[in-house]
Amino acid sequence: MERVLIEAYLKLLDFEGRLPKDELKCLICSNEILDNASLLRAFQTAHISCIFSNTIDVNKLKYLFNSKSTTTLLDENEINKCFFTLMEGL
Ligand SMILES: [Zn+2]
Repeated sequence: MERVLIEAYLKLLDFEGRLPKDELKCLICSNEILDNASLLRAFQTAHISCIFSNTIDVNKLKYLFNSKSTTTLLDENEINKCFFTLMEGL
C-alpha cells in the first residue's frame, strides 16, 4: 500500500514539475548532493550536514525520481522513510 501511494505521489510531483531528475541539489546550500540525502517534505532533498532528516542514498533517490517505481531498489526501511516524508504533506 505504501509503495502505491509513493508512486502516485511521485507522478503528481512530476506532473507539477517539482521532481528533480538529473542532479539532486540541497534545499539549503544549493550544492549538488553526492552521497546520502536527507529527504524532506514534498520529496525535496538536502545534505545530511545541512538538515538531518530521513537519509537515503542519492543514487537510489535519483532512480526513484526518474523511474517513479519503488520496486527495484528500495527496501522496506527506505519505503517507510519515503512514506513518512509523504505523510508530512504536499
Ligand atoms: Zn547543503
